[in-house]
Amino acid sequence: MTPLAAQLAAQIAATGPISLADYMAACLMHPEHGYYTRRDPLGTGGDFTTAPEISQMFGELIGLSLAQAWLDQGAPAPFVLAELGPGRGTLMADLLRATRGVPGFHDALRLHLVEASPALRAAQAATLGRDDVTWCDRVEDLPDAPLYLVANEFFDALPIRQFQRAGQGWRERVVGLDGDTLTLGLGPESARPELDHRLEDTRDGDIVETSAPAAVIVAGIGARIAARGGAALIVDYGDWRALGDTFQAVAGHAPADPFAAPGEADLTAHVDFEALARAAAPAAHSRLCPQGTFLARLGIGARAEALARGLSGVALDSHVAAFRRLTGADEMGTLFKVLGLMPPGTAPPPGLEP
Ligand code: SAH
Repeated sequence: MTPLAAQLAAQIAATGPISLADYMAACLMHPEHGYYTRRDPLGTGGDFTTAPEISQMFGELIGLSLAQAWLDQGAPAPFVLAELGPGRGTLMADLLRATRGVPGFHDALRLHLVEASPALRAAQAATLGRDDVTWCDRVEDLPDAPLYLVANEFFDALPIRQFQRAGQGWRERVVGLDGDTLTLGLGPESARPELDHRLEDTRDGDIVETSAPAAVIVAGIGARIAARGGAALIVDYGDWRALGDTFQAVAGHAPADPFAAPGEADLTAHVDFEALARAAAPAAHSRLCPQGTFLARLGIGARAEALARGLSGVALDSHVAAFRRLTGADEMGTLFKVLGLMPPGTAPPPGLEP
């Protein structure tokens, strides 16, 4: 049993089952035993990899889209350049390098990283190697200024709750105990007014997921962008109006049992982009776009060719493989989606459609 499993089992024995959200929050962010708190899961021998770790082209094109959105809005200065959950800082490093030639962009930007993990803050500091980075715990701590923001594989790490349809009501899927083993069970049936719109598209036994933390964070971003200007690019796996159980654990690049070793595996759920778009109001949102289409519109083909010219042998093979992985329909190209946020009445950032 991991130390966190013992702690959670004792808590459940004393006060009853906990929501999946409380379970996820403890597993990922417990101050002592949390998965992200203690380690860099993207490092050598880590558990998973992400688009910016696969190729520099990802962060470069995100950077050019945000910089063009900034130019299109009249180049406000100063402005906040922010990233949520920057991992090892790779995306931000690529973004900053790719935008060096955008007149005025670097002078006007104030760099803010929203990161909860001390281990990953240290990795970000090492990657970026600059002395003008401000770290904060929450979006609410960002200064009040025009906001240009990116979040890649951040929202999938936020705690979710699951509800199973029971007639006109819902039963919450909760974490309880079977002997001293953590196990999933069903709470009592109750009405859930916030899920009324899901009575339309679900049947008895169907599972829906909600993330209150995600909604709060997007509401904060949307309010700033609507009031002060700016743009956000949210990239993640998921869909418009998610349905079904998408809670999953990954350890050592392979699926794992999410209850077997709390704190030792990455826990995620698919992102419900409809819920994010709703929560972002009064900011406007783009149409949800497959990552492959978004990158193609931003010119990843030409960029890949330009980079390929300087490569040969194994380096060229891995560059070509990375391009396919980011854009391929059978790889990240369609599983991952991009949602843009922008001030009402303005065009979405380049790469996206209204
Ligand atoms: N964006 C990076 C890393 C994705 S992993 C990349 O694409 O490589 C998820 C990141 O979100 C990690 O940096 C993790 O520490 C951070 N994170 C997860 N939950 C968080 C929370 N509630 N508040 C702040 N950061 C969080």
